[in-house]
Amino acid sequence: MNYYAGEDLFLIEYAMSPGERQFDNAAISCISGERRVSSSLHERELSRYSRQILLFGEVGQQRLKDATVFIAGAGGLGCPVALYLAAAGIGEIRIADRDEVELTNLNRQILHREQDISRKKTDSALEKLLDLNSEISIRAFGVEICEQNALELVGDADLIIDALDTFEARYLLNRIAVQGGIPLIHGAIRGFEGQATTIIPGKTPCFRCIFPHPPPPEICPVIGVTAGIIGSIQANEAVKYLLGMDGLLAGRLLIWNGACTEMETIPVERDPACPDCGSRR
Ligand SMILES: [Zn+2]
Repeated sequence: MNYYAGEDLFLIEYAMSPGERQFDNAAISCISGERRVSSSLHERELSRYSRQILLFGEVGQQRLKDATVFIAGAGGLGCPVALYLAAAGIGEIRIADRDEVELTNLNRQILHREQDISRKKTDSALEKLLDLNSEISIRAFGVEICEQNALELVGDADLIIDALDTFEARYLLNRIAVQGGIPLIHGAIRGFEGQATTIIPGKTPCFRCIFPHPPPPEICPVIGVTAGIIGSIQANEAVKYLLGMDGLLAGRLLIWNGACTEMETIPVERDPACPDCGSRR
């Protein structure tokens, strides 16, 4: 995924009158250098995404269409992330989760319904996401993410979303992201509280720099709106990254406290001795 300055995007779009829109794809080639330009947006897509095309133009929408995002987890965070990325028109969403839907999931995992209990979460997610947007590609993997399959699952994704609930899997995903140079958007929730950060390998601290030690295992208390808020922030980061916008949570950890309705960001720093991204790895 190539970066390009957000300002360029807006300058090009705002400089165009509606009658000049046929030059949009030429603009994509100009901005993205060697990046492949896929088929142009068709009429139905222009209509579906018209309210966001007002924000970032057909060039930006094409960027989202060309993108592949891997979502690790179809639970509390994965559900809102996948919903908003599907709605936004991400060209390919890959989602992996080994679990089946349980009654205790339904307070927060908003893709799943009572009739989905005992089904694979990925089957349920695939169905709901295609109901929302049948014009994108969704690939669902009902497997546990592990050392043996993680690289293959992530594949050539432009972006990885950490919507997991164990530190062991998070460390694995972090290593895949760092080694592959693929940005990773982390989110986690507990109770009324949540956190998110965007990890750009080689530029920002990695997940292990920020969280070198796993917390003790527990059955995590959580209210569904916390998952919705943090998952929405992760989806927002994903869209911004894919559009090449500034203002990412890169090098910053966002902390949400829903109990007192406060949100803050704190700077985070690389650990030179980090086993995953440090100089001694
Ligand atoms: Zn690190």
